Amino acid sequence: MSHPAVFLDRDGTINEEMGYINHLSRFRLLPQVVPAIRRLNETGLKVVIVTNQSGAARGYFPAALVDEVHEHLKKLLAAGGAHLDGIYACLHGPADGCDCRKPRPTLVKQAARDLDLDLDRSYLVGDRYRDVETAANAGVKGILVLTGYGRGEYQYLRAAPKAQPVQVATDLLEAVEWILRDLNIK
Ligand SMILES: [Mg+2]
Ligand SMILES: [Zn+2]
Repeated sequence: MSHPAVFLDRDGTINEEMGYINHLSRFRLLPQVVPAIRRLNETGLKVVIVTNQSGAARGYFPAALVDEVHEHLKKLLAAGGAHLDGIYACLHGPADGCDCRKPRPTLVKQAARDLDLDLDRSYLVGDRYRDVETAANAGVKGILVLTGYGRGEYQYLRAAPKAQPVQVATDLLEAVEWILRDLNIK
């Protein structure tokens, strides 16, 4: 049986938006992220990060740093009893014309194949309209969080002719609580 999943954007959604994370010291988890992910883990929902990381392609830091940041993230989550089921990253730049950079749905679809996910019952949470658009392109429900770029994106793009989120949440924990209600999970 396929599993429902919650796809998470990374920067601005689970860690503070700091521009490019070109050093481990710039990676700081937002408050409530550990309990939010732990809650998803407890309910059996799969949790998968989908992230654009073009900094290495732009020459700002080595590609290996992306892996280092993700190892660091896994440790921070593990310390709080939470875990991820997958991390899918596009390491290309916008000019590379790759097939995986959000808002393309490729990373979501690849994860769905790898992890046997049911996209009809899945969600994508992010702080940019690019994430909402990715959700629409992948056929999952998009939720905008107001952390990171979220407040400004919502203020200026809520009336734009773009794919709109099914829900707007203050932060990841509020988004998770809404998802669990939407799925009728207690
Ligand atoms: Mg983001
Ligand atoms: Zn790519």
